Amino acid sequence: MKTEAMIRAVQQNLDIEVDGRAGPQTWGAIYQAIVRPRATPSVAFTGPRDHANARSERLIATLLPHVRPYARALYFKARDNGISINIISGTRTYAEQDALYAQGRTSAGDIVTNARGGYSNHNFGIAFDIGVFSGNRYLPESPLYKAVGALGMELGLEWGGNWKTIVDQPHFQLRPAWAGDMTDRAMLAELRRRTQQGEDIA
Ligand SMILES: [Zn+2]
Repeated sequence: MKTEAMIRAVQQNLDIEVDGRAGPQTWGAIYQAIVRPRATPSVAFTGPRDHANARSERLIATLLPHVRPYARALYFKARDNGISINIISGTRTYAEQDALYAQGRTSAGDIVTNARGGYSNHNFGIAFDIGVFSGNRYLPESPLYKAVGALGMELGLEWGGNWKTIVDQPHFQLRPAWAGDMTDRAMLAELRRRTQQGEDIA
């Protein structure tokens, strides 16, 4: 088979314009078909499994679209293992992050974060927190957080329970592919820059 015929066959298969030339559109479709799926969770979503409960979905909706399936995958994977979890925190604006940072410092309450606005992965749609529940009762402390952490890592998520400075067992995040082995500090700087420039974070 000649190359042009192969390209035509590939284009036909990808359901895109068939012209026998492998331009950006063709390569984009090939990339979407071959490379992107590797980054998606290994959990198969069928029927009612495509949505978590309403409480969790409200927060999942605040995440970047490509991060949402990971949150849902963890939700169902935990339930498959007999652990009831909800997503209890999603994306925060810089202002909301600043208000949280003030807590225990210039406003009432306990200190809950060391990150100001723009310095938390929660500000960029790639991070969420889970809560373990016993029936309707939220369990702020439970050995089950470690079990959920292991399940999250199996899905390719980073788990806050592995952090050295502040251990944060309810926390999960999806590291962008471009961030590779960057330090968190460097990754956050690039996330802020991309957000400011209106560039894609994924
Ligand atoms: Zn968190």
